[in-house]
Amino acid sequence: MDAIETVITDLEITYEPTNIYYQTIHSVLDAAELIELPRRLKLILAQPKNELIVHFPVRMDNGSFSLFKGYRVQHNNILGSYKGGIRYHHDVSLDHIKALAAIMTMKCALVQLPFGGAKGGVKVDPHAHTHSELTALTRRFTSALGTNIGPAYDIPAPDVGTNAQIMAWMADTYMNVHEPHERLDGGSVVTGKPLAFGGCHGREKATGQGVVFVIEDLIPEMGFRLDQVTFSLVGYGNVGSWTGRLLAERGATLRAVMDHTGAIGHARGIDAEKLADHVLQTGGVADFPDADPISERDFYRTDVDLFIPAALEQMIDIEQAQLLNCKILVEAGNTPCTPAAEIYLNNHDLPIFPAILCNAGGVTVSYFEWKQNRQAEVWDLADVDAQLKKMMSRTTARVKARARSLNCSMHQAAYCEALDHIRQVYELRGIFP
Ligand code: NAD
Repeated sequence: MDAIETVITDLEITYEPTNIYYQTIHSVLDAAELIELPRRLKLILAQPKNELIVHFPVRMDNGSFSLFKGYRVQHNNILGSYKGGIRYHHDVSLDHIKALAAIMTMKCALVQLPFGGAKGGVKVDPHAHTHSELTALTRRFTSALGTNIGPAYDIPAPDVGTNAQIMAWMADTYMNVHEPHERLDGGSVVTGKPLAFGGCHGREKATGQGVVFVIEDLIPEMGFRLDQVTFSLVGYGNVGSWTGRLLAERGATLRAVMDHTGAIGHARGIDAEKLADHVLQTGGVADFPDADPISERDFYRTDVDLFIPAALEQMIDIEQAQLLNCKILVEAGNTPCTPAAEIYLNNHDLPIFPAILCNAGGVTVSYFEWKQNRQAEVWDLADVDAQLKKMMSRTTARVKARARSLNCSMHQAAYCEALDHIRQVYELRGIFP
């Protein structure tokens, strides 16, 4: 049995190669091997510290009650308060949330933010509920989480299916159900809030902005010019649409987009701004008048420089990987490729910019928001963008240097950088008692 398998066996994690939690921990342990992380740290990081499941009823508009299942998983807090998004999606499961919480630990450590990793969610299709039902669901979920979240303990943010409005309801509920002395800075219990209620300039576009900063830093030495590249996107939600608009603003050409409503393409380019308006009005990219509907197969086969998945996890399996016709894969969403797809793409020498680097802009600007809330400050957009650029470039340079020194993939290098930082802090703090 190899070193990775012994950790997995010791923790009694079921051997399930297609399970996302198993895959995530396997990737973390694989990088841990490269930097000879002590076994005790591998054991600590291979499982979350806390896993909370809550069931709660919500009154629907027609007077009936529905019961919902919610999760909050706190993976690790050696670096600071737990931090991670809240997802509303019908496929949310404990293992999925555990995997995303572990990824948050790695992401915060990679950027060297004073945060640990967490993730939460509710198993619900948000599109199937009215505004008032979503308000009630969010408030009831927040009160069920109770003291398991808090401005100096665990700080949620938006993720798939949630947004600034949902964060405002979470903050307001937290401020109402806690003791008066906790209410004063209770708003900083969540980030990604609306600007008028303690939000941060640039938070909405932050993840896409971070993706673009990484691309800007990495592609020139690979022989590409940003104003001449072509790209395609999976997902045109928060991350996908902002990545698309910001790349288009710099002169890049969007050739194809696929989301849950269908796929569209246009050889001469799709107007990213107009498409964002269309998605806002109709809920998806289908029927966009200034592009042609294409099949899923043709979408993956579209000839582009950058292929950018910005939707759900594990959408690119070996079948999709074999269709790709791109020069670089930019992981804007979390773990978009299955391990089999990743091995296939590595074997075909396709450079992959790793997710924990590419999409770290979101949590970085969330950190700026939390910091402003705690210090009663308001930064302007230019300051936010300048700070974000500095932090993303510094992190990108460290990942690049690590990949060179270890002669490994950028994906492994990003995890190694994160793990090394965590190791350093464990060594300094020791283990209580
Ligand atoms: P979102 O809900 O705004 O958008 C999700 C997109 O995925 C939508 O365009 C949707 O149509 C698409 N999608 C869903 N099912 C699909 C399918 N079967 N086929 C094709 N497309 C499909 O979510 P988001 O916030 O943009 O998050 C996208 C990814 O980025 C997730 O992995 C998320 O965890 C990650 N992420 C988000 C942030 C953030 O700040 N929002 C930060 C870091 C990472």
